[in-house]
Amino acid sequence: MHKHITLIGATGSLGLQTLDIIRKDPELKVVALAVKENTELLREQIDEFNPEVVCVFDETKAKELSIKVKCRVVSGMDGLIEVATLEKCDLVITAVMGMVGIRPTVEAIKARKDIALANKETLVCAGDIIMNMAREYNVRILPVDSEHSAIFQCLDDKNPIKNIILTCSGGPFRGYSKEQLKSVTLSDALKHPTWNMGNKITIDSSTLVNKGLEVIEASHLFNVPVSKIQVVVHPESVVHSMVEFNDNAILAQLGTPDMRLPIAFAIYYPNRIDIGGRELELTKLKDLHFEDPDIDVFEGLAIAYRAAEIGGTMPAVFNASNEQAVDLFLNGKIKYSEIYEMIKTAMKNHEVIANPDINQILKITGEYQ
Ligand code: MG
Repeated sequence: MHKHITLIGATGSLGLQTLDIIRKDPELKVVALAVKENTELLREQIDEFNPEVVCVFDETKAKELSIKVKCRVVSGMDGLIEVATLEKCDLVITAVMGMVGIRPTVEAIKARKDIALANKETLVCAGDIIMNMAREYNVRILPVDSEHSAIFQCLDDKNPIKNIILTCSGGPFRGYSKEQLKSVTLSDALKHPTWNMGNKITIDSSTLVNKGLEVIEASHLFNVPVSKIQVVVHPESVVHSMVEFNDNAILAQLGTPDMRLPIAFAIYYPNRIDIGGRELELTKLKDLHFEDPDIDVFEGLAIAYRAAEIGGTMPAVFNASNEQAVDLFLNGKIKYSEIYEMIKTAMKNHEVIANPDINQILKITGEYQ
């Protein structure tokens, strides 16, 4: 198990759930915390967890905080890299959203830290580089996404994967037509039926872009082509994903939706602990449904497969243009249906670099900010 933890994205939904696990175990120690700008909540976390150093990405807020607290305060990308590579830390949890997670992850791997990866953008944009580096530096990448953790839990190191079956809640607009999708408002899109998450990922779940990102993430994590990854809509979110083997046996991981399970599984791997969650009462489940996603309406998924098949820098463009579009939508600047349009236009205009290095990927991601 890991004991000395750096948590990047401490004030987000996943960060708070991570701290909830850490607070229950006196053997776990927070070495560092990193946040974007919420220094008010960070101050409370500093008092409770007593980290050596904290990073506030926003420089002004970092300065303001540094006068008020005893621990060291760093800022910006240099600060993020510093907390991701601290001598004492043995696990970096990247619970931050978006492309900002890429460089700290790269540097943490070079510093031989295990990674609990909740930042899917890192693998989507730079999966080949990250996974090769992880092998080179003998670092474990432990998935924290619920689906990927489920797959990871079903793996059998003696048998290769035949297919991965990635489950998907379908989002709040399951069953909608293209026409209905056009009149979706921001507050409609922020209601997720089963998972309670941050705004960006909630929108991504509603467009199925999140599932598309997860397909690409899974293909890197488990080294399978996207053609062997099938998405099935499973509105109950009880089966968190499945693996099919050569004899057609399918193994699944089931449970009540609770992100603390994948977080704890990564921290305590290979052990399982009591997270204080709810047991799954099988006899109270009336039905479990599985259906094909409607990729004509939810184009985000089809576009993701296309980006993955083109490869090179295209998945990074898919991700970066989506981040930009979702940000504009969250700020009321574009309509819901324009999210897909922006991604498609960005991909159409992009000249693919086949085997990009990390700087070429970062340059692309920077163009969409
Ligand atoms: Mg997920």
